[in-house]
Amino acid sequence: MSTSEVIVIGGGHAGAEAAAASARLGARTVLLTQRLATIGEMSCNPAIGGLAKGQLVREIDALDGLMGRIADAGGIQFRVLNRSKGPAVWGPRAQADRSRYRAAMQNALSEVDGLTLMEGTAEDLVIDPRGAVAGVRLADGRTLPCGAVVITTGTFLRGLIHVGEIRYPAGRYGDRPAVGLAYTLRRLGFRMGRLKTGTPPRLDGRTIRWEDLEPQNGDDPPEPFSYLNDHVTLPQVPCHVTATTPECHDLIRKNLHRAPMYSGQIGSVGPRYCPSIEDKVVRFADKARHQIFLEPEGLDDATVYPNGISTSLPKDVQRELIRCIPGLEQARMIRPGYAIEYDFIDPRELDPTLGTRRVPGLYLAGQINGTTGYEEAAAQGLIAGVNAALHAGGGGAFTIDRAEGYLGVMVDDLVTLGTEEPYRMFTSRAEYRLLLRADNADRRLTAKGRSIGCVATSRWSVYSAKVEALSSAKALLEGVSATPNELVGRGIAVNQDGVRRSAWQLLAHSGMSLQRLVGLWPTLGAIPAAIARQLEIDALYAGYLDRQNADIAAYRRDEALELPPDLDLLAIGGLSAEVRQKLERARPATLGAASRIPGVTPAALVALLAHVRKRTRGAFA
Ligand code: FAD
Repeated sequence: MSTSEVIVIGGGHAGAEAAAASARLGARTVLLTQRLATIGEMSCNPAIGGLAKGQLVREIDALDGLMGRIADAGGIQFRVLNRSKGPAVWGPRAQADRSRYRAAMQNALSEVDGLTLMEGTAEDLVIDPRGAVAGVRLADGRTLPCGAVVITTGTFLRGLIHVGEIRYPAGRYGDRPAVGLAYTLRRLGFRMGRLKTGTPPRLDGRTIRWEDLEPQNGDDPPEPFSYLNDHVTLPQVPCHVTATTPECHDLIRKNLHRAPMYSGQIGSVGPRYCPSIEDKVVRFADKARHQIFLEPEGLDDATVYPNGISTSLPKDVQRELIRCIPGLEQARMIRPGYAIEYDFIDPRELDPTLGTRRVPGLYLAGQINGTTGYEEAAAQGLIAGVNAALHAGGGGAFTIDRAEGYLGVMVDDLVTLGTEEPYRMFTSRAEYRLLLRADNADRRLTAKGRSIGCVATSRWSVYSAKVEALSSAKALLEGVSATPNELVGRGIAVNQDGVRRSAWQLLAHSGMSLQRLVGLWPTLGAIPAAIARQLEIDALYAGYLDRQNADIAAYRRDEALELPPDLDLLAIGGLSAEVRQKLERARPATLGAASRIPGVTPAALVALLAHVRKRTRGAFA
């Protein structure tokens, strides 16, 4: 085979996006993965999106990534979470048919120009005499030369599964772990740690008493993820809700000594916001019940995912546990839940392109960087794939900042602060969340993606037509106005200040809708429904955003002060040993990033700034 420019190791959520993005940029790309049949596999819950995660999916879509379109193709229940709150924190989510999602992802990847899918296990990296990555060595003895590598091996690095007292090496259920590559990364000097995650048992839906359980339906009509889609094709199905009982909690307490988390068998840290049921029973001892969502895994698959009872208790205890849950008394367990421990790399080893500072040309994305979740993995995959392609093509960097996307918030958090527990996205992590909404990800990112060749012409045309439609509709709204008297006469209460108000200004009023304004100005009835919905949200936030823009300008001023990668921290007077060590670990790319590291004091920032200014002046002297 001819030399590829980029090799992506792993075919999970990060790997799929990385490979597709690299190929979109025109790099000859290979996606190398242990088993082609598991590309796009959902290792845990059959769902995409949710609070803050939904924004990530829309951002991936805005950059012409795959996840949104694939979720639309495989989605069997769409719901916008947090609908009772403002659109800034709405979280689009879709329950997915696991096998249809996988098939759609495999199909989409097989159609990407310049991308080769290859089955094989990466065992080691080839490093050239300059210390840069030059290829990948496979377990079967082959060597693949390349210009850049993206590693996206998820939970596979020295993965160890636990089910009660039983433990065995695995990458996830049914897959072998990646051991060689873990040692390669250690040998190269990367700082590594160990994390854990877990999954619930799977149930046979034909043995559940559905008639006694409360159904939970999706939105009608379902709203697709992708900006390219206006409807969803698959039939929509309900989930059902049940809960644990005091009897379940007694059973868990009695068997805690057999739970690997409590027997000392697992020492690593798990996801705080997705605890196992044994963890919930211990940590929230006063709660008599914990909710469980019974989620279908597919339209023609009877498997049910009981969301809320992730566990690594022994198999016999899991069976008993299921029997004391209402509706599940007769349910058959298809396979037990388990916990998995795995190696991750301290993400402070990376710069904001997700490239490693230690090995030029080597990029890391997904769970290997200490995150948890499909969406977090996919979003990082896209960034790493784009940058690997740029690197292989001779240079350039593509980064997103905290005011452009959740993607930028996540990458900055990871590379600046590192993580000691599995990192997941939350709306509360974003400072500028009024701006970073799920509805406007395309207007935040599509043009930027297009400028580096990451967005295809077909999407660009759809996007440009939408922007044009929004702009003409807004002009229509700004072009009609009425006096307070006229408005009161039409039932719209405003201050009697004698000032004319345009339809655009009125749209920002609480409880106002474009439909109501059509009553005053029938010409506005020509605005298509989707454009009208978007303008209502835009108008609602317009005033707040004017204020937020000042904060964003201040943030960008600090971000523009770049710290050179070879900055000699020992040469900067006035830094304490503690601050120096923190800066050494994170190697922040900008003064702004340095200011976000806890413990880096204002005095230290002033010293840093003075040093960099002096250095820059020296360079021009
Ligand atoms: P993965 O999806 O794991 O993909 C890794 C890919 O790398 C696979 O295709 C694998 O075959 C390939 N690979 C590995 N090593 C090699 C090699 N040496 N050579 C070639 N290919 C290789 N997330 C949540 O948000 N909430 C949860 O509750 C949750 N629970 C989980 C429970 C379990 C048991 C597991 C396993 C995962 C769980 N996750 C959970 C995490 C979720 O599955 C991951 O966040 C997501 O899949 C990470 O995507 P990724 O692309 O980084 O890795």
